[in-house]
Amino acid sequence: MALIVQKYGGTSVGSIERIEAVAEHIIKTQQLGHQVVVVLSAMSGETNRLISLAQQIDDTPNARELDVLVTTGEQISIALLAMAIIKRGHSAVSLLADQVGIQTDNRFGKARIVHINTHRLRQELEHNRISIIAGFQGRDEEANITTLGRGGTDTSAVEIAVALAADECQIYTDVDGVYTADPRVVAGAKRLKQIHFSEMIELASLGAKVLQLRSVEAAGKHHLPLRVLSSFAPDEGTLISYEENNMNSRTVVTGIAHQTQQVLFTLIGVPVGIERLANIFTLLGEFHIEVDMINQMKHNSGKIDYAFTVHSNDYAQVFEVLSTHLELLGAERVETKADVAKISAVGIGMKSHSEIVGQCFKALADAKVQALLFSTSEIKISLLVEEQYLEHAVNALHASFNLESIV
Ligand code: ASP
Ligand code: MG
Repeated sequence: MALIVQKYGGTSVGSIERIEAVAEHIIKTQQLGHQVVVVLSAMSGETNRLISLAQQIDDTPNARELDVLVTTGEQISIALLAMAIIKRGHSAVSLLADQVGIQTDNRFGKARIVHINTHRLRQELEHNRISIIAGFQGRDEEANITTLGRGGTDTSAVEIAVALAADECQIYTDVDGVYTADPRVVAGAKRLKQIHFSEMIELASLGAKVLQLRSVEAAGKHHLPLRVLSSFAPDEGTLISYEENNMNSRTVVTGIAHQTQQVLFTLIGVPVGIERLANIFTLLGEFHIEVDMINQMKHNSGKIDYAFTVHSNDYAQVFEVLSTHLELLGAERVETKADVAKISAVGIGMKSHSEIVGQCFKALADAKVQALLFSTSEIKISLLVEEQYLEHAVNALHASFNLESIV
């Protein structure tokens, strides 16, 4: 018998039929002899609907009240699911985060869980009652309702699983696992049976929207087995694991991720000096701008061009900040290039294969796509390309690493 925490996302409980189907699946898991604790998102579209109601009153609604509002979505879904299980003759109880004792800090809209009381949940388990917990929410020290940020139910589920020392946390969503590339971009993308935790961290931070990044980090801290699977056609999905041995052998690259909506900035003609570079990033840091790939190119004149990327949402602000501080930075001018995209090849096998960088460049060269910028880390190579070549380039890399035949 295993203790399993199951999280169901918005589309998984997006209609009454879906809620009934999820109820059946939970009961089936229990009938296999497992103990189940469920963590739920709001029905799909509901959180957005609530946010838009708030915005009809105020563009930037009061943060505390916004959390009170948006947490109601989960209150609806947990009650409906509990009813569906009870109707089938099984025992279930819906619980808000406050009733469980999910304590967070007081940062409305982006709170972090600091403690989970397991007393109530253990009691329910003893009585063989299935707890259906509202995800995404918590309470701070002063009993205010808080939320964990969009997609936060993943993190609720992982943290609850860790607190209960569950055997596995299963994330049911509308995709059936983690793929070697976005299947909408690469027709031959393959679902991975297993992915190493550090690869999953990279993919989640690269914008693969399967799991909230924080949930992966939280799972990693405790080596919690985490599985991504579809509630529409449940099978074994993709297991996020922590052992390197059985994976190293399969291939050096595990997946190709991509991120659109990037902008390339270049500060032209900056005099040499390490403090100049520090100035640039300190300045952008003050404006909470996340800078990504960074590169420098030295001219014959001895001056340096600094290139880096940011998300296109930050375009206007970065342009403004750099333009107004050109003198301080000692730069001649600032150039920008929009509509660029970042492609990353990820794999723990890269650690021991330095030739991978060369293979990436060769794949792009053969595909006649120019890399505007690149950066590497121990298990990742990122390349910046013009967005119009994105699909072509992702497919070229996927083929170059033979990911269609990954097992
Ligand atoms: N309902 C929340 C959202 O839409 C939390 C979640 O779904 O994980 O972001
Ligand atoms: Mg989600």
